[in-house]
Amino acid sequence: MWFRRDLRLSDHPALCHAAREGREVLPLFILDPALIGPSGAARLAFMYRSLRALSDAMGGGLVIRTGDPAQVLAEVTAETGADEVVVTRDAAPYGRRRDAAVRERLASIGVDFVGTSTPYAVPPGKVLKDDGTPYAVFTPFFKAWFRLGHSMPVDAPHVAWFRPGRIDSDAIPDDPPLECELPPAGEHAAHDTWARFREHAIDAYDDTRNLPGVEGTSRLSPYLRWGCIHPRQILADLGDTPGQATFRKEIAWREFYADVLFHQPRTARENLHPKMDRLTVDTDAAATARFEQWAAGRTGFPIVDAGMRQLLATGWMHNRVRMIVASFLVKDLHLPWQWGARHFMQHLVDGDLASNQHGWQWTAGTGTDASPYYRVFNPIGQAERFDPDGDYVRRWLPELADAPAATIHQPTAPMLDHAAERAEALRRYQAVTGR
Ligand code: FAD
Repeated sequence: MWFRRDLRLSDHPALCHAAREGREVLPLFILDPALIGPSGAARLAFMYRSLRALSDAMGGGLVIRTGDPAQVLAEVTAETGADEVVVTRDAAPYGRRRDAAVRERLASIGVDFVGTSTPYAVPPGKVLKDDGTPYAVFTPFFKAWFRLGHSMPVDAPHVAWFRPGRIDSDAIPDDPPLECELPPAGEHAAHDTWARFREHAIDAYDDTRNLPGVEGTSRLSPYLRWGCIHPRQILADLGDTPGQATFRKEIAWREFYADVLFHQPRTARENLHPKMDRLTVDTDAAATARFEQWAAGRTGFPIVDAGMRQLLATGWMHNRVRMIVASFLVKDLHLPWQWGARHFMQHLVDGDLASNQHGWQWTAGTGTDASPYYRVFNPIGQAERFDPDGDYVRRWLPELADAPAATIHQPTAPMLDHAAERAEALRRYQAVTGR
């Protein structure tokens, strides 16, 4: 059993398949330099901690190897005589390329490569219109996704684990130096987090999910990212109160973006709508300097700076604030969305290619459900509406700890004039859209 984005034992169809008929299972995780390299410290540390939790849960036997997966798997199957490698299928561009290479390599030495299930309730690629084409807009996708439904979660299987000590294993690496505090990792922590949210916050989710100063969202994103919990396990617990129904839709956004990336892998880097390639963006030295001010949380706009500092301090940022800081980067600073997306991927503990790149493209007006080009978030208006008492800003900007609510969102030494940059953004977008 080659674990990847499925670091749990319960509701694990691939593990059930590997363990069928009492077969002995070697649990393997491969530290793939191609994936470790670009991952930021927060995501890596969370992954290592989830691996430790997984290994503990199976009695200490998780085997770790480092290197190119096709090569590692050829070696491990030769060392153990395994005749089958079982995985949860990966839907993202690199994972699909890697798995094709692995399948070919294993076939050449007579080993079966079996993929089953995915990290999604409905496998990316499965939700199609009547004419067989994919959806490009969320709401009709959601309706079709909901109609398709999903299988019910299954318990952890009884597994005869291949005993540790019978094969060499690398150690799970120590955490990289961390400048942020992370939530507890692993499957138990995921279920505790879900149970707590269900008990305390889901009924108010509809009202509070947009308020960054309130603990109104589930904080499940890093657990979903690493498969410490599967969306099936979440969806199976949901009823139809307004809070639960809205929460189901948010889970479906994750499925939608995975589906879009599955059909169009190029959109991990490129605009979904090629006509937006004509949008003028700034990339000179002055643009780099502006980017660095944004990344450090030093724009002078309190809500933007609070968000960027929350990201650096915790590896997470509230969704409403992700939208505000992203809009600021694209529409006030006129920088390529890819710059912001890369910074997010370096720092987010939940950094996920599909949700991140398409969250950015949505804001930039280059992607699905493109927010109309003329909708430019006003960082002061957004802050006054969604952080009315200033609690969020006060928490992340100690210099404003004593500021009164009435003025806390007013810029102090702003790096730009929002009205002027809004006009500039409209000019640039209109040059592309002709409107
Ligand atoms: P909740 O509100 O409790 O939502 C529950 C779950 O639903 C989340 O854990 C997530 O899996 C899913 N979800 C909710 N909103 C979205 C959404 N808009 N898009 C996709 N899935 C959603 N999410 C990531 O998981 N990884 C990313 O790298 C990421 N990058 C983003 C970048 C930008 C610019 C934007 C605007 C959004 C991004 N999101 C990303 C989506 C969203 O911000 C996070 O999923 C959410 O803030 C996580 O907190 P939570 O678990 O408390 O969310």
